[in-house]
Amino acid sequence: MRTRIINGTIYTKECKLLPGEVWVEDDKIVRVLTEGDCAPSHPAEDFADASIVDANGCYVLPGLVDVHSHGAMGHDFCDEDVEGLKAILAYEKSVGVTSYCPTSMTFPEEKLARVFAQIPKVQEHSDSRYARVLGINMEGPFISPAKVGAQNPDYVMKADAAMFRRLNEVSGHAISLVTLAPEEDGNMDFIRQLKDEVHISIGHTAADYPKADEAFSLGADHVTHLFNAMPAFAHRDPGVVGAATDHPHVFAEVICDLIHIHPSMIRSIFRFLGEERMVLISDSMEATGMEDGAYQLGGQKVNKKGPYARLSDGTIAGSVTCLYDGFKNAVKVGIPLESAIRLVTMNPAKSIGMEDQVGIIKEGNYADLLLVDQELNLIRVL
Ligand SMILES: [Zn+2]
Repeated sequence: MRTRIINGTIYTKECKLLPGEVWVEDDKIVRVLTEGDCAPSHPAEDFADASIVDANGCYVLPGLVDVHSHGAMGHDFCDEDVEGLKAILAYEKSVGVTSYCPTSMTFPEEKLARVFAQIPKVQEHSDSRYARVLGINMEGPFISPAKVGAQNPDYVMKADAAMFRRLNEVSGHAISLVTLAPEEDGNMDFIRQLKDEVHISIGHTAADYPKADEAFSLGADHVTHLFNAMPAFAHRDPGVVGAATDHPHVFAEVICDLIHIHPSMIRSIFRFLGEERMVLISDSMEATGMEDGAYQLGGQKVNKKGPYARLSDGTIAGSVTCLYDGFKNAVKVGIPLESAIRLVTMNPAKSIGMEDQVGIIKEGNYADLLLVDQELNLIRVL
C-alpha cells in the first residue's frame, strides 16, 4: 500500500515547516521531499500509482507523543482493564496522540504487576484504531512521602531494583521511565544500578540542588512534571529545576494545561531550557474527554469541574487536558509554532530513545501523521 501526501506544509526533521510531500509505504515513511526536491522533473518512480492524500492548506505534522498520561474517557491504566486501556488508546489517537506511555500511580508491587501485565496483551493485538504504546511510565511508588501530590502516601517506598526488574519482566520489558526521589535513602544506588536499563526521572521529590545535581550526574536523565511536586526554584536554593537546567542531557516534562503552571512560567521554562529539552505532557486522568463529575485517580476520589481535577482537599490531581490541547495552549501563550510542535513530538520521543521510530517525519519512521489546518484544528489522523 503506497500513499503520497501532497500539497502540504511538512514539519521536517530540522524542525522547519516547508512545502513538500511525504511518501508512505505500508506503515512507514519512505521519502520526505521538500522545496528543491519537489521539482516536477523528479521521477515519481514506483510511486506513480500511489494513492494520493491532498493536504492542501494543511500542516503535515508527526503524530503527538505523550510520555505521561494516566487515562481518559472514564478509564485509567491502573484499572487493570485491557478493554479500558484500548478505549484510552482509541481516544488518544482520535485527538492526534499517536504514541502514548500509559502511566502508573503509587501502588504495591502485586497491583502494579497486574497493571503492567496488560501491556503485552495490548501490544499483541496492535491495531490501527489505537495509539501506539511506546512503553510504561512508572510514576510511583519510589517517591518522597513529603511530595506525594495526588499519589497515595500509603504505598510510597524506597526504590527497589529487584522489584523494578520483576515488574519490568512482567511488562515484557516495556518500562520506559521510572520516577524517583533521589534524596530518599538508597535511591542514588538505584540510579547507579538501573541507569542503563531505564530512563530515570527525578520527581515527586524534596531534593535540594546538590541531591538533584548528584542524581543527574549519576545518570538520571528526565524530570517528572517540572515545578509540580518539587521544591520551588529559589534564588539561593535552585533545587531540581536549577540542576536540570545545568545538565544538558536532561529532558524536563511540563504540564501545559495552564492550570498546573502559569503561562508566564511556561514562557520562562522555554527560555531557560531551550526548545531542545522541554517535553510537554498531558498528565491526563480518566475524566479527560468526559463530563464534569466524580472520578478517581490512583484509588483516590477526584472531582472534575471544567478544566480542574482536584482531590477533596483541593490538591490538583492530574489534568483533564489532552496533549493536543496542551500543544495549542503552548502556541497561545507565545511559544513559536515550529518550537511548540517539537515539544510534543521529537522531544518526548527523544527523551525515551524512540526518535528513530516516532515523533519525527523521516525515512524509516512510522507514518503516524496529522493533517492540521492553519488555525491548528486537527483535520485528520493518518
Ligand atoms: Zn502523573
